[in-house]
Amino acid sequence: MDAVRYAAPNQLDIVNVPIPEIQEDQVLIKVTCCGICGTDRHLAEGEFIGKFPLIPGHEIVGIISQIGSSVKGLIIGDRCVADNTILCDSCYYCRRGQYLLCSNFDSLGVTKAGGFAGFVAVHSKKVFKINNLTDEEATLVEPAACAIHGMDRLRPSVGVEAIIFGAGPTGIILAQLLKINGASKVVIVANKGVKTKIARDLEAGDEYIELDRENPHPQWAKLKDEYQGKFDIVIEATGSQAIATDSINFVRRGGSLLIYGVYSNADRVQWSPAKIFQDEITVIGSFAQTHCFPRAVAYLDSGKIKVKGMVTDIFFIKDFEKALEKLRSKTACKIALRP
Ligand SMILES: [Zn+2]
Ligand SMILES: [Zn+2]
Repeated sequence: MDAVRYAAPNQLDIVNVPIPEIQEDQVLIKVTCCGICGTDRHLAEGEFIGKFPLIPGHEIVGIISQIGSSVKGLIIGDRCVADNTILCDSCYYCRRGQYLLCSNFDSLGVTKAGGFAGFVAVHSKKVFKINNLTDEEATLVEPAACAIHGMDRLRPSVGVEAIIFGAGPTGIILAQLLKINGASKVVIVANKGVKTKIARDLEAGDEYIELDRENPHPQWAKLKDEYQGKFDIVIEATGSQAIATDSINFVRRGGSLLIYGVYSNADRVQWSPAKIFQDEITVIGSFAQTHCFPRAVAYLDSGKIKVKGMVTDIFFIKDFEKALEKLRSKTACKIALRP
C-alpha cells in the first residue's frame, strides 16, 4: 500500500509498505478518507509528541476489511471511524482513571502508524460504526470528540455567554456544542475567509466578527473596546501566541479561559496574575480526548452537530505535499486525504 511517511521531522516521503497484519483483537480498516489537522503540520516540523519514523493521519475513516479471531460486534464491510488513542492502563495516571494523562499515551498517526495509508490496524474496542455521515464528513468525528472533551473540561453553566477565537473545524464544532449545551450567546471571531463563511452557513454561532487578514488592528481595537471582560467563557482556538495573550482580557470576572489551540513549543503568553487572582479567572487546558468518540458519533451521525461542507479540499496520498501547502495557505477549512 502507498503511505505518507516521515523518516524524521521535515523528511517526507510517499512510500510503498506492506499492509499491516492484525492481531486477534484488532480489525483492519481500509481507509476511505483521513482528515489533515493543524497538529499534522506541527508534527511534520518535529514539534508536538511525534515518534519517528511515522505514518501520520489520526482522523481515520474507512471500511472494515478484515477481522481478528476474538473480535465481536463488527463485520467486514462496516463503515467506521477509529479512535486514535492508545492508553497503557497501567501507569500512575491510568490507574487513577486519568486516562488522558497516560504517561505512555500513544496515538495512531502521532506515535504509531496512522491513516495516511491504504490500510490501518486498529484495536476493535476503538472502532465505531457510522451510518449517515459521508466519508469526508466523518473525518470531523475525531475533532468533535476532542471538542467534547473541551466541553467536559469547561462544564458551561446554563445561559453563559461565550466567545471563540478561531473558526477552524474545532471552533465551528465547539460553537455548536456550546449553543446546544446552554450558552445564551456564542460569538465567533476569525479572519475573513472560507472558514467564517462555513461557520455562518452552518449557523454555528450567534454573532460573527470577521477580521481583515492584512490589517486586523483597527477591528481588534474595536473588539477590545466593546467586548473586553464580557464573556463567561473564552475559547482560544487559533494557536496564535498573540491571541492567546490577548484572550484573557475578554473573560468576565469569575469566568473561564479555555486554551485549545496547538501552539509552538517556544510560544509564551504574558498575563497579569493580579487579574487572574482578583477576577477569579479559571484557565483551562484541553488536549485531545479519550472515550469521547461515542458521543461525537452520536452528535454528528444524527446531524445535531452540522459538518456539511466543512471538508473543502480532498487530495490523494501522492499529493500530500500539495495538501500541506493548502493547509499553510489558510484557505481551507478541513482538508482530507484519500488513498
Ligand atoms: Zn486532529
Ligand atoms: Zn497509562
